[in-house]
Amino acid sequence: TYIVNDACIACKYTDCVEVCPVDCFYEGENMLVIHPDECIDCGVCEPECPADAIKPDTEPGAEEWVEFNRKYSEMW
Ligand code: SF4
Repeated sequence: TYIVNDACIACKYTDCVEVCPVDCFYEGENMLVIHPDECIDCGVCEPECPADAIKPDTEPGAEEWVEFNRKYSEMW
């Protein structure tokens, strides 16, 4: 899965949301998140993010964001 990290906070761009083929972005409290079970790992959102906040969970430091992304995806 891919995740969104705190570099997204207060970002006003939603380019990532528009390119996602499975619509798995959700609004968190002050940032966007990706539902880890819905993400199909296509990677098209990563280069769209101007804040460089989208990472594969295989990247160092990204794994700890998976549960955070899950929690806020399922909150609403
Ligand atoms: Fe959506 Fe693909 Fe990004 Fe996952 S990697 S959030 S499926 S655009």
